[in-house]
Amino acid sequence: MAMTVEPIARVARALSSLPGIGPKSAQRLAYHLLNSPDADIEELADALRALKGSVVVCSSCFNVTSSDPCSVCSDSQRDRSFLCVVERPSDIAPIERTGRFHGLYHVLHGSLSPSKGIGPEDLKLAELLPRLRSAEVTELILATNPTLEGEATAMYIRQMVASVDVKVTKLARGLPYGADLEYADDMTLGQAIELRQGF
Ligand code: ZN
Repeated sequence: MAMTVEPIARVARALSSLPGIGPKSAQRLAYHLLNSPDADIEELADALRALKGSVVVCSSCFNVTSSDPCSVCSDSQRDRSFLCVVERPSDIAPIERTGRFHGLYHVLHGSLSPSKGIGPEDLKLAELLPRLRSAEVTELILATNPTLEGEATAMYIRQMVASVDVKVTKLARGLPYGADLEYADDMTLGQAIELRQGF
């Protein structure tokens, strides 16, 4: 049994609650932090403390942002005829990185999952219809994750918007099934956007 130093173990425990960080990585990071300059540690602690207080949700697209409306919604250069539906705020950065999409977003904040008790009313689904009806949207791109929940959510949206005169497309196949958009490489995701199909 390795010797545990409580302050280090505490940081390691906190870090290991993050997605993708196992106990070993958490411990390595904790020791790394211990040996980091004081200024770096203070900046990290300040940034973490400020995170919750300074982030709001965009009242238009529901992306997380430091100002409402967010930088995408308030950018007059964005093409308002394209609306891309994603599950999470973290899905936007990888799509932006591909440089292939210049429209607006709509963040659902999750996906339908009966097994987890997540229904349509738990997502930003009701807020999608007014955006389609009032805005000049001509194409709705469904960029939900290629997972069971993501597919079910896309299917639900397609039915929900059936009465609206809008073209519905979905990211092309080629994204690994079961993976999160967030972890797709730029090339694969870029192609999936370019080759999106009618849905
Ligand atoms: Zn926005």
